[in-house]
Amino acid sequence: MFKKILIANRGEIAVRIIRACREMNIATVAVYSEADADSLPVHLADEKICIGPGPSKDSYFNIPNIVSAALITGAEAIHPGYGFLSENASFAEVCAACGIKFIGPSPDAIERMGDKATARETMQKAKVPIVPGSDGILANETEALRVAGRIGYPVVVKATAGGGGRGIRVVEDEEELVRVLKVAQAEAAASFGNADVYLEKYIRDMRHIEVQVLFDEHGHGIHLGERECSLQTVRHQKVVEEAPSATLTPALRRRIGEAAVRAAKAVGYANAGTVEFIFTPDENFYFMEMNTRIQVEHPVTEAVTGIDLVRWQIRIAAGEALTLHQKEIVWNGHSIECRVTAQDPQKGFAPAAGTLSQVRFPGGLGVRVDTQIYGGYTVPPFYDSNLAKVIVWAPDRTEAIARMRRCLQEFEIEGSPTNIPFLQRILEDERYIENAVSTAFLPRLMEEAGLAI
Ligand code: ADP
Ligand code: ADP
Ligand code: MG
Repeated sequence: MFKKILIANRGEIAVRIIRACREMNIATVAVYSEADADSLPVHLADEKICIGPGPSKDSYFNIPNIVSAALITGAEAIHPGYGFLSENASFAEVCAACGIKFIGPSPDAIERMGDKATARETMQKAKVPIVPGSDGILANETEALRVAGRIGYPVVVKATAGGGGRGIRVVEDEEELVRVLKVAQAEAAASFGNADVYLEKYIRDMRHIEVQVLFDEHGHGIHLGERECSLQTVRHQKVVEEAPSATLTPALRRRIGEAAVRAAKAVGYANAGTVEFIFTPDENFYFMEMNTRIQVEHPVTEAVTGIDLVRWQIRIAAGEALTLHQKEIVWNGHSIECRVTAQDPQKGFAPAAGTLSQVRFPGGLGVRVDTQIYGGYTVPPFYDSNLAKVIVWAPDRTEAIARMRRCLQEFEIEGSPTNIPFLQRILEDERYIENAVSTAFLPRLMEEAGLAI
């Protein structure tokens, strides 16, 4: 097992990884930007190294500085968390070249899944269902019009290198397609350094259901069931997630789980990963993309399976065999996560920065709070607006909802607007309570509430 791990990330996920390391008796190195000098992971880690100024391109994306920090401190492995360099194949390659273990899949697997159009083709060959769309990257406007004409409008134009909900555009007709295509390509080039886009049929009233997989480096892998992530903003950012999905029957769970395992096998996957699916109102499912990293919402899976995913990521990276078998995986009770952000619902969910004069966390039976904030903490303006994740577990969904409502009521953050009032509104909505939702639900709720974005 590793003796020392460097965490190439910040915020709550850095805290989460440090906690796993400490329980495994592994020393930790926190890297941080000048803006994060006083952050919780920096306080909790055994060693700390500043890797640059606040803007993430100069710090958390700074490969030479991060790798140097690992070499200087003698860290044997790097955990990338999510976001930043976690899905960057060349970072994984540089780590390997420097004799540092990247805690994640191989650069080849990252690359094959990271390019979403290529991933679609790989999935088709592996007999994982994909939504109708273009065969890979669109060569030109003529091809785009031909494909869209064949599959029927509306369609979505997607950046092959996109992520985090960015690079997706819904198009209703030919005229709009011609216009959007150019803009989408220019935007993709500017945001992701890759102008390539592809087309998919737009599925109205879909659910986003994703499956957690875990593979060791010896070819043994399993799935840990699904997460329901249909509650997303108009910008496709997840807000409330749960496990299991109240929509799946055991038979559907087995089928979608097997499809996820097939998807991962097709690229020789190792470590923890998530296969995202479009789930249609008539109960079909299609591969959407694979995230080759730990995911923000992983705690709801941990809550219902009792399996520590970050611990397994580390054990797998250290070469250990996965001792879990599919038959032994049981799902117990129900878990919900709410993402608490420093966003003002009354002001178009504008991100806020500033000092949190006072913070009081919820607690009690079945409650977990993963966060980097504390009373007196100053939210830097450079990063995403996530303040905390509240995760509850209860024997069933009804009790989990009641518990989450109680937690949101208890949670006090002074000094910054937060989305807590909006989360409360969701948890009180009859449609949510009855699980009558799709990805269209939150945008509709925001409109009804007069909360424009
Ligand atoms: P990202 O890499 O940004 O996460 P995804 O391909 O996973 O991109 O899509 C993000 C979200 O966009 C999905 O969760 C879903 O809400 C919406 N979406 C993606 N593809 C489609 C589709 N074909 N039809 C309808 N909505 C879609
Ligand atoms: P997950 O797929 O694990 O649910 P997300 O896609 O929401 O996670 O976020 C993954 C990473 O991308 C996080 O680091 C998050 O901060 C970042 N991210 C999400 N949305 C955006 C955005 N609009 N702009 C920049 N980064 C984003
Ligand atoms: Mg996605």
